[in-house]
Amino acid sequence: MILDEPTGETYDVLIIGSGPAGLTTAKIYAEKVPSARVLIIESGAPRVLHHAAGLSKVVASGDLASDYYPAHAQRTLGGTSTVWTGLCTEMEKRAFLAGEWPIQYKELASKYQEAALILDLPSEVYEKPSVLLPGSTHILYKPFYRRATRFAKKYRSWLETSPQVDLLPGYTVVGLGVGGRLVETVRVEPTAGGGANSASLKAMRVVLACGGIGNPRLLLLSEIGAKTPVGRYFMDHPHMYQAFLLSVDRDALVQVSGPPQRGRIDAFQLTSEYCVEHGLLSSSFQFMKGLAERLEMLRGRRRVTRFGQVILRSEMKASPNNRVTLSNDRRDALGQPMAAIHLDFDRGQIRREFDQFSRVLVRSGLGRTSELRGGIQLTGGGHLMGTTRMGTSPTDSVVNADCRLWDLDNAYVAGSSVFPASGSANPTISLVALAVRLGGHLAETA
Ligand SMILES: Cc1cc2nc3c(=O)[nH]c(=O)nc-3n(C[C@H](O)[C@H](O)[C@H](O)COP(=O)(O)OP(=O)(O)OC[C@H]3O[C@@H](n4cnc5c(N)ncnc54)[C@H](O)[C@@H]3O)c2cc1C
Repeated sequence: MILDEPTGETYDVLIIGSGPAGLTTAKIYAEKVPSARVLIIESGAPRVLHHAAGLSKVVASGDLASDYYPAHAQRTLGGTSTVWTGLCTEMEKRAFLAGEWPIQYKELASKYQEAALILDLPSEVYEKPSVLLPGSTHILYKPFYRRATRFAKKYRSWLETSPQVDLLPGYTVVGLGVGGRLVETVRVEPTAGGGANSASLKAMRVVLACGGIGNPRLLLLSEIGAKTPVGRYFMDHPHMYQAFLLSVDRDALVQVSGPPQRGRIDAFQLTSEYCVEHGLLSSSFQFMKGLAERLEMLRGRRRVTRFGQVILRSEMKASPNNRVTLSNDRRDALGQPMAAIHLDFDRGQIRREFDQFSRVLVRSGLGRTSELRGGIQLTGGGHLMGTTRMGTSPTDSVVNADCRLWDLDNAYVAGSSVFPASGSANPTISLVALAVRLGGHLAETA
């Protein structure tokens, strides 16, 4: 049910944030443990978008400006899924093959089917995520599927009627109280301020699902994980728009893609194995609308190609210098230090990946790229990742392979902040898959 104010109940699991990560974790756990009681605390109000937008303000330096971030951290029921585009494709294996994740790729891949159901995606997204372009050993056809599922709309009536799950909207978690190795209290303030209904809530286990900036910020505010790299290794996906044209052999493309399909967007990339062998990160070249056909000479053969502009979406190397900390002098409406963010893109790396993809494509005789204008103009994707990364030791990670904080026995993190490496795929299907895995883990260990 939807609560007006906090109650004194001690819940089995308390989840902070009602975006895709928080709602998925709650749903999977509640389904598997029918006797469980779950509380979801949501900073925003259920219906009013931007109600609590001021609480996402940050101070930024580097390649992305301060006003970029709040738009990508919506404070409302359903979180940022209220505005997202809904492009989904599986994360590549590259970073798993390179040993950058502490889990096997199959642990993530085995959850994509459930994630696809939650995101209303077609089965192709997990049954046939990618296929080699005929005639090439290194170039994959790896399309995106687009369904902009709004989590608030999809799960609202479940939240209103579930006997197991309570939602407390309009309350912001401002700190976690720790005793020994346990989170003992969760301090909340009414989002609109005033403090009249401030409360300290209790739960057996706590899940942070506040987004890629909200998660490290709450840990820093609560002085948790001081010996781990909380907030470091922040990543986004550098995007380049309107910079490149791509031509691809039409027959090869049609052989793998079949007829056009509504909601499917063609994209190409180098195989993970090739990237690992050549020290490259993952990059995806996604066709934009407005494709044309023309005759071209490719390696001495006349071919009909499909050509048009592409979006280059790239992985960025995880660097400890890109980080979320707390501002020394700027505070939000609840009196809490704002997040201070620094992020630099590596233009040289993106250039190398573009050049290598272009070379392999030309060598295959299946297509070519060309540049529309000089210079690399980058923007982010609103994909906030890496700030509470998963790993094998507290010296270089914040959570373990179960997404549990190293310092605590009853606190977990859900969302793309646990990605130790991001791949080039948009993150939501993968963070939902990890939330399915976390919900299952919480149930198995209940
Ligand atoms: C314009 C746009 C387009 C996008 N397009 C795509 C796309 O095509 N494909 C894709 O994969 N991804 C896309 N994304 C990213 C996608 O929206 C996010 O990956 C996804 O929403 C993250 O889910 P989350 O649950 O981790 O975080 P969020 O959705 O951000 O949810 C976090 C929740 O936590 C709440 N919260 C935060 N702090 C507190 C606190 N202290 N107390 C209580 N509650 C709190 C917030 O109010 C919010 O409801 C897009 C994003 C934007 C902005």
